[in-house]
Amino acid sequence: MLKVEKISKSYGNNLAVNDLSFVVERGEIFGLLGANGAGKTTTFRMIMGLLDPDSGYITLDGKPIDYGVTDNIGFVTEERSLLTKMTVKEQVIYYGILKGMVEEEILEKLDWWLKKFQIQDYKNRKIKELSKGNQQKIQFISAVIHEPKLLILDEPFTGLDPINVKLFQDAIYELQKQGCSIIFSSHQMEHIEMFCEKLIILVKGKVVLAGYLKDIKKEYRKKNIKLVGDIDLVELKKIPGVLAVNALANEYEIKIREEEVAYEVFKKISKYKVSKFVIEEPSLSEIFIAKVGEKYGE
Ligand code: ATP
Repeated sequence: MLKVEKISKSYGNNLAVNDLSFVVERGEIFGLLGANGAGKTTTFRMIMGLLDPDSGYITLDGKPIDYGVTDNIGFVTEERSLLTKMTVKEQVIYYGILKGMVEEEILEKLDWWLKKFQIQDYKNRKIKELSKGNQQKIQFISAVIHEPKLLILDEPFTGLDPINVKLFQDAIYELQKQGCSIIFSSHQMEHIEMFCEKLIILVKGKVVLAGYLKDIKKEYRKKNIKLVGDIDLVELKKIPGVLAVNALANEYEIKIREEEVAYEVFKKISKYKVSKFVIEEPSLSEIFIAKVGEKYGE
């Protein structure tokens, strides 16, 4: 379990992380969200022991972060930190040995992962000859070869096609099943929605929203109606509680203040030919924009 307790970090007068606390349980995938400059990288660097917090504590399974503990952490970022002149095999052996593994064990695990990612043939190829997506797979394998207790994924899907996103997704669930705690950070909200049950949103180093995604969506009472039909938009816009009516490519999206307003909308459209009427929860992207936008203006 990773426990971050009241950590703060300033660069000169700039308070980059402000009294931040959260817990990532064993086998949990935790979303760390924030706009550019919110303090995510600074937080990761403190968790990995590359930067000391000015105040507060970080522990992994009860132990304060030091070199012994950081051996139990894996990190995948969109900036590739690969040694491109090496072959895949040399690279992974290099990282495995740095983490205290023996070569035999590394090779056994490497074969397993290469098969999982469907790139068995690339074992003796130089990293620089691989496509970006395949380089990202090698970076992932290098980060998890030692079976870390904590894995930090910072925009891990950049540059991946949907088939490879699916392969990564399966690999992440596999690690979760093995009990690995995972911090997942991305600006792509659909990826956060796909993985994270629990999340926090940071603005200027401070938490503005925290909790389970399903509770966050429930509490954020605003909902959307998706509707297909021949309707009078002006009439809909007049209904109290209707916040906006947007014409999307193939349907209308009606933003409403709360679920009760949907019944009024439904009553109004019953005289029209409607082929779809669905009340949806807001997307995480909408909630993010609302929360972060609110605070940015302050
Ligand atoms: P992004 O999504 O753009 O990667 P982030 O959430 O990772 O952003 P950080 O990189 O942690 O944000 O930056 C938080 C704040 O700290 C920003 O105001 C940034 O300018 C500042 N900062 C980050 N690194 C340094 C540094 N080495 N020296 C001085 N200021 C820094």
